[in-house]
Amino acid sequence: MELLNRIGGSWQPSSDGATVEVMNPATEQPMATMPVGTPEDVDAAVEAAAVAFPGWAAKTPRERSEALFQVADVIEENLDELRRLEIENVGKPVSIVDFEFDLTVDNWRFFAGAARHLEGKAAGEYWPGATSFVRRDPLGVVAAITPWNYPLNMATWKLGPALAAGNTVVLKPSEVTPVTAVRLAQLLEGVLPSGVLNVVCGTGPVVGEALAGHPDVAMISLTGSVRAGKAVARTAADTLKRVHLELGGKAPVVVFDDADVQAVADKLREASFYNSGQDCTAPCRVVATSSVHDDLADALESEISQIAVGDPNDREVEMGPLVSKQQLDRVSGYVERAVSDGAKVATGGSRMDSPGYYYQPSLILGADQGSEIIQHEVFGPVLTVQDAGDEANALAWANDVDYGLAASVWTRDVGRAMRMTREIQAGTVWVNDHITIVSEMPHGGFKNSGYGKDMSAYALEHYTEVKHVMVNHGT
Ligand code: NAD
Repeated sequence: MELLNRIGGSWQPSSDGATVEVMNPATEQPMATMPVGTPEDVDAAVEAAAVAFPGWAAKTPRERSEALFQVADVIEENLDELRRLEIENVGKPVSIVDFEFDLTVDNWRFFAGAARHLEGKAAGEYWPGATSFVRRDPLGVVAAITPWNYPLNMATWKLGPALAAGNTVVLKPSEVTPVTAVRLAQLLEGVLPSGVLNVVCGTGPVVGEALAGHPDVAMISLTGSVRAGKAVARTAADTLKRVHLELGGKAPVVVFDDADVQAVADKLREASFYNSGQDCTAPCRVVATSSVHDDLADALESEISQIAVGDPNDREVEMGPLVSKQQLDRVSGYVERAVSDGAKVATGGSRMDSPGYYYQPSLILGADQGSEIIQHEVFGPVLTVQDAGDEANALAWANDVDYGLAASVWTRDVGRAMRMTREIQAGTVWVNDHITIVSEMPHGGFKNSGYGKDMSAYALEHYTEVKHVMVNHGT
């Protein structure tokens, strides 16, 4: 499959003709070629988006809403193909893609409806003889940069609110998993006017940086690592463009002695290893009070050692490979260093002896709070369990990382649940659950996990500018 950039109404190779292979992580074989975009490609795409902006912004909310509903319909009509491409490019099992694309379609429909529900304060006479009201105007050209872990879904989280609000977009998918974003742009050729959605494939340091620095880009919205987020924010500062950052996570799972231990183990078997643990909200570090620690560690060991790993096309498989050789090396390195720092592997802990970038679902016990495996985002199928002693220390350890994207609390005590949800510094806190998300609710971080919200009406707001209009009519 040969991918091209979508610029205005045409499909183009990169300006210098460079391409790179895109891999299937389950087979270690190439599955597509991708153009390696250049700053010239970015200039052309931004110009096409700028030309398309006035027409798209001038459409009524109803017209934009109808177009977005059509996007959802087109995805639904082409689910089989998109599913196959996502499985081949990311290595995720069928069951996960089914769930993910159901959310993707629902996200589009949510934003299609939300396009007609932008809100402002009531108009009124706040000055004698003058009427004031608030408009919510689109920003202009939005640049969207997405990561490799949920290619179609992360593109949706950017495109949905940006387009609903009347902006036009230049999308840069991850260079590791660009396939479904490009295919979506092809499928939408007759749905969105030319130039409303442009796609430039390429690397972060070239295409991403060129977008972040471009004077005609009004907003840059990135989902990715903290490193990339900081780079984008620095570059964007020169043109003072709006920045939206959904970055990494290190979600704690705070478990108390009144929790249902088997329910926690069942949930973590699913959620910690979902998408091979390559999820920014993945429950990756259990912080348990002493009285429940040992029982929970045993229950988790039993569940995790039964996880079915293998061919992503097999419906019985719970976990596929990691996305790339680089990610496999990264995860292996974290576990090796944790062990040499004194932590113990209860189950897993090594690569699998088969083709593909497979790593065993792993459970690590006894890591120190200050150690690398507790403080850094591993982004792989690795769960740690720590004995935190009492409630106060469990809370302190839950917050004692630079990230603040998500967390969960497991207790039947309502008072304790309320105390913890107030004190935990994270953009989402679940009580007796983890990872469940819905289109209506915001997703975003505290601390180094970034700023700005995806999904929900909050996302739509972030892709608009508030304008005060005062009409002096003298009456
Ligand atoms: P990454 O930061 O390497 O890449 C993300 C995107 O940013 C890619 O498209 C990449 O090309 C681009 N990029 C990289 N450097 C850049 C730069 N200097 N300027 C502009 N763009 C640049 O991240 P990844 O490895 O693709 O994805 C994994 C990371 O994404 C993890 O940290 C994960 O937690 C995070 N993530 C966060 C969320 C969320 O909602 N908060 C969701 C999914 C993934």
